[in-house]
Amino acid sequence: MSKWVYTFGDGRAEGRAEMKNLLGGKGANLAEMSAIGLPVPAGFTITTEVCTHYYANGRQYPAELTAAVEAGIAHIEQIMGAGFGNATNPLLVSVRSGARASMPGMMDTVLNLGLNDVTVAGLIASSGDARFGWDSYRRFIQMYSDVVLGIDHHHFEELLEDLKSDRGYDLDTELQADDWKELVSAYKGKVQEKLGRPFPDDPREQLWGAVGAVFSSWMNQRAITYRRLHDIPESWGTAVNVQAMVFGNMGDDCATGVAFTRDPSTGENVFYGEYLINAQGEDVVAGIRTPQHLTVVGKDRNHSTLPAMEEAMPEMFAELDRIRHVLEKHYRDMQDMEFTIQRNKLWMLQTRNGKRTSAAALKIAIDFAHEGLISHQEAVLRVDPAQLDQLLHPMLDPNAPRTILTTGLPASPGAASGRVVFTAEDAEDWARRGEKVILVRIETSPEDIGGMHVAEGILTSRGGMTSHAAVVARGMGRPCVAGAGSVRINYAEKVMTILGREIKEGDTVTLDGSSGQVIAGEVPTIQPELTGDFGTLMEWADAVRRLKVRANAETPTDARTARSFGAEGIGLCRTEHMFFDPKRIIHVRQMILAQDEAGRRQALDKLLPYQREDFVELFTIMQGLPVTIRLLDPPLHEFLPHTEEDMREVAEAAGVDVKAVRSAAIALSESNPMLGHRGCRLGVTYPEIYEMQAIAIFEAAVQASKATGQTVVPEIMIPLVATRRELDLMKVVVDAAASKVFGATGVTLDYAVGTMIELPRAALRAGEIAESAEFFSFGTNDLTQTTLGISRDDSAHFLETYQRKGIYEKDPFASLDQEGVGELVQIAAERGRKTRAGLKLGICGEHGGDPASIHFCEQTGLDYVSCSPFRVPIARLAAAQAALGKAAEGQK
Ligand code: PEP
Ligand code: MG
Repeated sequence: MSKWVYTFGDGRAEGRAEMKNLLGGKGANLAEMSAIGLPVPAGFTITTEVCTHYYANGRQYPAELTAAVEAGIAHIEQIMGAGFGNATNPLLVSVRSGARASMPGMMDTVLNLGLNDVTVAGLIASSGDARFGWDSYRRFIQMYSDVVLGIDHHHFEELLEDLKSDRGYDLDTELQADDWKELVSAYKGKVQEKLGRPFPDDPREQLWGAVGAVFSSWMNQRAITYRRLHDIPESWGTAVNVQAMVFGNMGDDCATGVAFTRDPSTGENVFYGEYLINAQGEDVVAGIRTPQHLTVVGKDRNHSTLPAMEEAMPEMFAELDRIRHVLEKHYRDMQDMEFTIQRNKLWMLQTRNGKRTSAAALKIAIDFAHEGLISHQEAVLRVDPAQLDQLLHPMLDPNAPRTILTTGLPASPGAASGRVVFTAEDAEDWARRGEKVILVRIETSPEDIGGMHVAEGILTSRGGMTSHAAVVARGMGRPCVAGAGSVRINYAEKVMTILGREIKEGDTVTLDGSSGQVIAGEVPTIQPELTGDFGTLMEWADAVRRLKVRANAETPTDARTARSFGAEGIGLCRTEHMFFDPKRIIHVRQMILAQDEAGRRQALDKLLPYQREDFVELFTIMQGLPVTIRLLDPPLHEFLPHTEEDMREVAEAAGVDVKAVRSAAIALSESNPMLGHRGCRLGVTYPEIYEMQAIAIFEAAVQASKATGQTVVPEIMIPLVATRRELDLMKVVVDAAASKVFGATGVTLDYAVGTMIELPRAALRAGEIAESAEFFSFGTNDLTQTTLGISRDDSAHFLETYQRKGIYEKDPFASLDQEGVGELVQIAAERGRKTRAGLKLGICGEHGGDPASIHFCEQTGLDYVSCSPFRVPIARLAAAQAALGKAAEGQK
């Protein structure tokens, strides 16, 4: 028989941390904390298997669940010494969701459950505080009605506002016990009015209602959207945690707060967090009251005048600080924890691995390794390669002038400019039109995540460092300035006023999420300096990495950037990029529009010196590292002159009539250029083009070898080959060029001729092609396009729908379709190596910088990946993780 319920409390637990799949993250960690003797209010977890069962059986629970929940309640009653529904000493519980992966604010929570007209008296008697008792009761009715009964919050807020204005109160704190009591009956009246039946009094009925609501919330729109954005499968389900309530709002010896064991923004080893005296947990995150800092250091750094917990509650702080160290040692990772102090007794309500910025992730991984808590290899595995991206992102140029409008909290680092919008829907609409937007909200809520996701940055006027906006933006890697109090937002007019200055929808602002500045207009950005920790991590990654990492680069700037990020060569130099230079394009056009070979040669002669210079520079920068140069690839169509002026220019340069140019341009234009006259088809039809490029390469190699003293070994790559014959024909051209240059210069160099594998036929015939090719480089951009039959340029319109409908899990142009395209890669690798053992294999499509695809390349036994220069560090780390993953599997 399945076990549906796991209890915890009083230094014991039936579950453990590693049971996250079954108990959800929250439940598993509550069990773990309880088991290691930390103070956790007693409770139980209804497993995710119940959720799965519930949905698989028309929303019915397993038959044994009732008895198991009863036993769970009895367990809590026994430990807490209170009775569920008991008139004199009532047990109150919280009911919360808890999925395997954290889904902040996505699902529903009910607090103070178990209150009714009878038990409220018991709560008042045991707390000695009638005001507290009635306030708790009305909070419960409001939450329960919203979450379980579907009656919106605002109905209750209105009743509260009415009562306040009747009494002439401004603040909630002015309400007395009798006022709250009156509100309770008004709330119940509202429920009766809305539902035609009374608010449920029976605690057990309340409990089952709340459990059902949590399970149902797994399928609400917010949760579905969140799962889609974070790749969380629906099949995981959520657990439900039922736990004894502890109160942080029973007086001034009570408090509640959230804390990180280290600073989640910088990773610095300082205790970091916020708390509020006499408050409930929701008050800290909701941004309704300004939270106070835990430590004096935190308080001083943030120029706060409110007392730190360290000062206001020194004993409680010391206990919390002790637990901080226990948790870090135990979990061997930075923790994000929630706590409540009830009458000078500290209770832990949650712990989990804390979300952190990429800078913090890096620092924490390195520090933990230096502190001996984890190994170097674990440190390598701790940093998400995609997160490194943020570290490499631009920051504001410190020397650029800025008009600072105001400063808020530096909630999530990085800088961004964009046009202001005031709703998440507008953000999505504008982004769809290609606009860069900054989403400005008073505060954000889970409904806004779609808009936050597309925004360049997020600005809120309310809320602290742990507010929804701050936490979510940090997770998404979006710059965020939160709680900028001097920003006055008028949603109706779509305008904000910052210290008298009006900013309307569509105006451009810049956010610096690292300093909290809100700046008028656009500010230029620069690349950040990488810290020593970054270098250390890269070193540790390189120590375990098998795959080599090269860069796709053709300009000297790209090549230098690639080298500075540790690229071990150039895997793809797309020579056509060199042709678009304004000085050269005219000759390129002259060449393609020429009537005959003589005309083409005339133009090619003008291009040769440019090409040679390009290659000399590349070889010189790369200092003997391998450089793979791809001969001309793009559709000729792309070079055609479009305007009359362009055509006249070409006609003049070629010394022909403009009419001839016009008709040649018309003749050469293609309706499917991606499948047209491109790749090696250019070399087959006009061998003199490839001849010119090959000569330029060899002359440059000779020159650069002499100049640098390093032997340059050029790798010449033929694109879009489908048959061995194509490659053979091109190889003849290249070899002849080599002989010519070596003969003329008296210098002979090694070189290799290889091919791209970017057509399915080439992958299938790889065994034969490898007889001629000395290396393969998988051009997975074209291979994806041709395997899936989806145009690289036109897929955006429908791919999103395809992903939403689960046809392709990820965008196949960003992350390799491992099953389909991947199988072709495997076939080609296998067949190629069968013909030519040790055939060098690389990948140079966009997938070469995607961590999941890099994993695949490791498993397929490729020799290197090649990606854009900024992704080189990501690839180095991903390759190391792939190597470690493989080792771990091998040991199993
Ligand atoms: C490819 O097709 O994957 C490739 C690298 O070539 P390009 O993107 O230039 O077509
Ligand atoms: Mg290609």
